[in-house]
Amino acid sequence: MSAILEREPEIMPLTAAAIAPEAQARPVIELEHIHKTYVMGEVEVHALRGVSLTINEGEFVAIMGTSGSGKSTTMNIIGCLDRPTRGTYILDGQDVSRMSKDERADIRLQKIGFVFQGFNLLSRTSAFENVELPMLYSGVEAAERDRRGREALASVGLEGREQNHPNQLSGGQQQRVAVARALVNNPALILADEPTGNLDSRTSIEVMEIFQRLNRERGITLVLVTHETDIAEYAKRVVVFKDGKIRKDYRVNNQRNAAEELKNLPPVQDDDDDDDMAEIVQE
Ligand code: ADP
Ligand code: MG
Repeated sequence: MSAILEREPEIMPLTAAAIAPEAQARPVIELEHIHKTYVMGEVEVHALRGVSLTINEGEFVAIMGTSGSGKSTTMNIIGCLDRPTRGTYILDGQDVSRMSKDERADIRLQKIGFVFQGFNLLSRTSAFENVELPMLYSGVEAAERDRRGREALASVGLEGREQNHPNQLSGGQQQRVAVARALVNNPALILADEPTGNLDSRTSIEVMEIFQRLNRERGITLVLVTHETDIAEYAKRVVVFKDGKIRKDYRVNNQRNAAEELKNLPPVQDDDDDDDMAEIVQE
């Protein structure tokens, strides 16, 4: 008998925690009995009808469900863009459910990175300036902005693209700029609403590869909405909404590995070539 077992007389039950180490970690998101009712004139829309969900540090969760099931409403509440009508939301240990708009804006800046389906980049500014923006808002000094901005762009494979404007980048590259922007303030959490909705299948896998790497190597907690089953399989856990409630919540058995899949895809024409030609012609 080892000393460890002697000190630990009870046999560890095979709990969810034993299967998934992150289940023992600190909760980042705690939604408790969340209701959201939109009032439109005489009509009340019950978008969420009692949602309770805990997501721990280091998890990678895909949210699925049919249109109108409450996915975006939930993401807006998780992202502190909106408040629940009833219920409690604890983000990273802080009760944010009753915070004012300004307080929520501060929390968002410090703790959350957002990635959207339509990239939401400023079109007249460079990749670097787009990534710099959240740091400007949070008062990071210039030298540090420069360092972190370059590092974030490099971490999504866009080294050397700092000065390109969005229209000089492919859709996949634009989404990678958006991921870099989501990363620069070192968030506790990245939220992505249909991040691959506007991308072809190969580019979608490239974006999922970045998410998986951020989750695996940097332990970043990720929550993404998707209606595509094959995209959800890159996550570790799937939560399915229906009619404003959680209907299913399960671990992904055979998590797909985007990096491995990319290795096995046939090589493509490098879409950078065209951009480089355009630059040469402009010079
Ligand atoms: P999903 O993202 O799963 O498609 P949503 O969370 O956007 O679903 O919407 C859930 C329900 O709430 C739907 O019936 C939708 O019409 C309604 N809804 C969402 N946002 C608003 C709003 N701002 N005002 C009124 N009703 C809304
Ligand atoms: Mg939606």
